[in-house]
Amino acid sequence: MPTTPGNARSPHRAASLVPVAPELPGYRCWAEVDLRALEQNLLWIRHRVGPEVQVLTVVKADAYGHGLKAIARQLMQHGTDIFGVANLAEARTIRAVGPGWPILLLSACLPDEVDTVVQEGLSATVSSFEEARAFSQAAVRLGRTCRVHLKLDTGMGRLGAKPAEALSLLRRMARLPHLTIEGLMTHFAIAEDDVRYTQSQLAAFRQVLERLPALGLKLPLIHAANSAGLLHEPESRFNLVRPGLLVYGVLPTGKRTPPAALARRLKPVLAWKSRVTLVKRVSRGASLSYGCTYTTKRATRLAIVGAGYGDGYHRTASNRGQVLIRGQRCRILGRVTMDQMIVDVTALRGVRSGDEVVLLGHQGRGKITAQEVADWFGTIPYEVFTGITGRVQRVYLGAQAS
Ligand SMILES: *Cc1c(COP(=O)(O)O)cnc(C)c1O
Repeated sequence: MPTTPGNARSPHRAASLVPVAPELPGYRCWAEVDLRALEQNLLWIRHRVGPEVQVLTVVKADAYGHGLKAIARQLMQHGTDIFGVANLAEARTIRAVGPGWPILLLSACLPDEVDTVVQEGLSATVSSFEEARAFSQAAVRLGRTCRVHLKLDTGMGRLGAKPAEALSLLRRMARLPHLTIEGLMTHFAIAEDDVRYTQSQLAAFRQVLERLPALGLKLPLIHAANSAGLLHEPESRFNLVRPGLLVYGVLPTGKRTPPAALARRLKPVLAWKSRVTLVKRVSRGASLSYGCTYTTKRATRLAIVGAGYGDGYHRTASNRGQVLIRGQRCRILGRVTMDQMIVDVTALRGVRSGDEVVLLGHQGRGKITAQEVADWFGTIPYEVFTGITGRVQRVYLGAQAS
């Protein structure tokens, strides 16, 4: 496996497709993860930001539910520059795939994690002098150097120091031994929706950047853009972008719509599938599922599908959601249960036990997007993906033989 750090782009080898259900018996609910699509999305992002801008791919929460190991391997092979993670376990998983790759811990570090961050050579996000000092002290004690990124809170209100304090903070941090200030960063709160708020965040960040030369400090990495920032605010790209959702081929939705031509370039990486386990007919007036929330209005053919909230398919989609069977949309009737749901297949011919059901993705001419599922769940695509539970097998398509 070519897993050298940096911009190594390995020659593309013949793909070996992992067999997918229904060839894999016993798969009732699985996620097909298209590694080629992932590669294309990363290439598209690189093309969009240009050669001067590095790409930090955000792979927290098991790579947005896509499976961190396989995603990290593919992103390494196709030249991600840095990984962004939420915790040490995620960083270790990446290290196990390819040692030495730059990793930025995006969350604040717990006191008892400081030594490990230093020992394992991760870059840390800090919001205060106290955090920076703890890293410096650990680095001195362990005979290492620690890299940190100072985060500024320009309006997100989560991590970050006040922009007004940034310069004095940087001045003090620069004097700490065994500490390298590798970057200066901020994070957008509403880049997909609100131009004015986002630009005010950007202006606050820029004000600090303009005063950096007077400090005589060289900060290699300046970054702000999440997926929405990357799409809507070209000015926010600086020399590093931090896309998450876009890497997985999904657009952040909001009032600001990206040009349709751009949207078409991205390819959703994940499809969520299940199978029909049973087909049956019920007469008019039959009550369906827990709580008796649906009563048939006519004789109805039902398909029982092998997925439920135990797989991450929210119960809020009861009597609302739709799935694809034979390329056609079918409504969920009654409550979604832990392992099963009931769908109306009266209008379809020939539905049989074992048929593939698409919860999210394409089937024939049919398509259900992550945004649609998120609407049925009352949430956002991020939570749909990260909510797909551990019992849902991830099946990788387009992986290189290893
Ligand atoms: C999660 C996260 C991102 C990625 O956000 P997307 O909206 O998925 O692009 C970027 N930066 C930070 C600090 C994050 O926590």
